[in-house]
Amino acid sequence: MPVIIDGKKLAKEIREKLKIECDELKERQIKPKLAVIMVGNDKASQIYVRNKSKACDEIGIAFEEHLLSEYIKQEKLINLIEKLNKDDSIHGILLQSPIPRNLDINEAFKTIAAEKDVDGFNPINVGKLCLNQNTFMPCTPYGIMKMFEAFDIDLTGKDVTIIGRSNIVGKPLVQCCLNKNATVTVCHSKTKDLKEHTKNADVVIVAIGKSKFITADMIKQDSIIIDVGMNRDENGKLTGDVDFENVAKKASYITPVPGGVGPMTIAMLMNNVIKAAKNLN
Ligand code: NAP
Repeated sequence: MPVIIDGKKLAKEIREKLKIECDELKERQIKPKLAVIMVGNDKASQIYVRNKSKACDEIGIAFEEHLLSEYIKQEKLINLIEKLNKDDSIHGILLQSPIPRNLDINEAFKTIAAEKDVDGFNPINVGKLCLNQNTFMPCTPYGIMKMFEAFDIDLTGKDVTIIGRSNIVGKPLVQCCLNKNATVTVCHSKTKDLKEHTKNADVVIVAIGKSKFITADMIKQDSIIIDVGMNRDENGKLTGDVDFENVAKKASYITPVPGGVGPMTIAMLMNNVIKAAKNLN
């Protein structure tokens, strides 16, 4: 059987360390604070924001939520971000996606001050990641890299296949893996023969949002499987993009869903808020 990469346990350990760092900051009169902006009433986003708020509470990070109507104008959203940029009591700003299609999310991300951009989506921080410079790494890729580190998985020379090329997961992951000297292949919905790219890979990271899409016949014996997907099955149960039960029989390491990448994403967001609070003081 493979090693199960327990993201829940690892995330808890990270949050415990962050709590100590947060207490130390407070002793120096620095009170780390995260501002989250949510536009509209997306149900999944409401859960994600609630989980982020709970994690902040646990660590001692102050949490400020800005709920905006789905009909808000772009100008109002930008004005709010600019106001939060200027507010010295706020160290991290996060715009929860998705936002309504009529709004320009790229302009919004660009407006978030780079030094408060704890999600790492401002083009300045994206560029720094490409240049392998110190930056805010986007939380999901960062969480995955932390898992590799915690389990002594060295990516040097490994063939890594990433499935999915979103701006928040797939694309930054490419840079993270390259920065760790992996040989990276990126697949997406237009890839001609996906299996060709997964069955020879040492590591497969899948982030597409399709329940149990990766099956045992698509992977190499003893490969490392990271499942980013979060899907709901017909009974409302959370499932990943990997057919865990069967793929686990062939993998050397595998992340479960739930309890894998998800908790790590939130832990790394907390990490970035503490980092921002340190940097800004
Ligand atoms: P996204 O924006 O929904 O994009 C999906 C990506 O998958 C696209 O690049 C798409 O290709 C590709 N794709 C779709 N069908 C495919 C197929 N049949 N074969 C190959 N590639 C295919 O992606 P996302 O926002 O990164 O989310 C992906 C999944 O991860 C979702 O389930 C989401 O809920 C989950 N997620 C989890 C976390 C976490 O913390 N665990 C964080 C973020 C996201 P094209 O570009 O060609 O359309």
